Amino acid sequence: MSRIIDKTAAELSADIREGRLTSVEVTTAFLDRIDAVDGTIKAFLHVDREGALATAREVDADIAAGKETFAFAGVPIAIKDVVVTKGLPTTAASKILEGWIPPYDATISERIKAARMPILGKTNMDEFAMGSSTEYSAFQKTLNPWDTGRIPGGSGGGSAAAVAAKMAPVAIGTDTGGSIRQPGAVTGTFGAKPTYGSNSRYGLIAFSSSLDTPGPVARNALDAAILHEIISGYDPRDSTSIDAPVPPVVRAARAGANGDLAGVKLGVVKEFAEGSDAAEPGVIAAYEAAVEQLVKLGAEIVEVSCPSFTYALPTYYLIAPSEASSNLARYDGVRYGLRTGDDGEHSLEEVMSLTREAGFGPEVKRRIILGTYALSAGYVDAFYGKAQLVRTLIKQDFEKAFEQVDAIISPTTPFIAFEFGERMDDPYQMYLADLYTIPTNLYGGPAVSVPVGLSEGMPVGLQVMGPVMGDDVAYRVAAAYESTQDALLADTAPEPEPEGK
Ligand code: GLN
Repeated sequence: MSRIIDKTAAELSADIREGRLTSVEVTTAFLDRIDAVDGTIKAFLHVDREGALATAREVDADIAAGKETFAFAGVPIAIKDVVVTKGLPTTAASKILEGWIPPYDATISERIKAARMPILGKTNMDEFAMGSSTEYSAFQKTLNPWDTGRIPGGSGGGSAAAVAAKMAPVAIGTDTGGSIRQPGAVTGTFGAKPTYGSNSRYGLIAFSSSLDTPGPVARNALDAAILHEIISGYDPRDSTSIDAPVPPVVRAARAGANGDLAGVKLGVVKEFAEGSDAAEPGVIAAYEAAVEQLVKLGAEIVEVSCPSFTYALPTYYLIAPSEASSNLARYDGVRYGLRTGDDGEHSLEEVMSLTREAGFGPEVKRRIILGTYALSAGYVDAFYGKAQLVRTLIKQDFEKAFEQVDAIISPTTPFIAFEFGERMDDPYQMYLADLYTIPTNLYGGPAVSVPVGLSEGMPVGLQVMGPVMGDDVAYRVAAAYESTQDALLADTAPEPEPEGK
């Protein structure tokens, strides 16, 4: 492959460090690609050409001066618009934050800047990261590069589509119930949800604080692992941050690339399979073919049981909206962004209410109502309290399973990318997209989604879940799978049509 945009981030990084390409050339290539195809795909809410090129020039100057640079210095990146970036608009795809320019950086934005990766821009998403299709963005619909009549997944559809359409070599997503992995699966990209607490939440616009986890989006395991190590690690500004060494994911991705899984035990959850009437046969077929490959590499498949799996979806849909209703109380027209009805004729409370009425979209309102109800006096024990108890049961199930196996595998999603509008009338149908990804968030562990093939011409993902702080195992298995393939699935995506075609 000859084009700059076809190279992996690791290749680009080596080219920049060793002087074969400059960061300005690389960054310009991706900015030009955005100009050429994002009018069609609509992955970006904001593009920062000047800012990205300024960082690129700095890196090039340092390299020319013989200064040492580190992994991914000069390699551009796209960031989901739920991550706060100083001086760059950050909206979480909500009207209520339209026009807000943050005065500070999230910890992961700081780390990306410290690594000196040029920030190409901010990517589209479901409003406040609530959704599975990016259709709930208040601003635009992002199209799936594989079939522009279909959704790119959600909530991080923008980051996934940007990487799939080669508008960015890598990107940042956030995963509360699947929003990195599910978009990864349906766009043929690699997505990783790190162990909860191993990546700082400081400066993420909060959705569900006990579940939210930022992580990498890439085309393969190695690129994701390198980015993972750049953004991970203890942060005293996040009270749930884990003060322990980052799991060696880069080493694991490199080791996995040797294609040897001898002695590795992979669990298949009995109840996932039993509850798989929601899954499409084409997805199951692609998943089973991937499992066969893993067995050929020496992995042993072991059936494990997680009886509480059946309750994962309802548990999540009590906990996440409850925490969201509390987190979103801060958007009242006083502190940030939108303010409606401030005309001297309305009381302060009316202004707050009118602002929230005008500023929040339908799914966000649905979650606030659900969460407020589940937390209300007289109901909190029956709903939120019960959900917390069941969450513990789910955690115990997975802990037991990980006593028997090194990692657990499943399809990432029950179905391929669906058509626009298909699941908008029935929220439950939308929620089902995360059937297999939600348990990981509830037990707090790591999981990656690696592309494994096509069903009806659309990408399918394999999910590899690890025990808490066992992120390296998930990367190793995923990289081993990649080693069985002649080409990355992401490299076989169709070329997007330029705008207006
Ligand atoms: N689709 C799930 C939801 O709507 C997960 C979202 C996410 O991970 N941010 O809540």
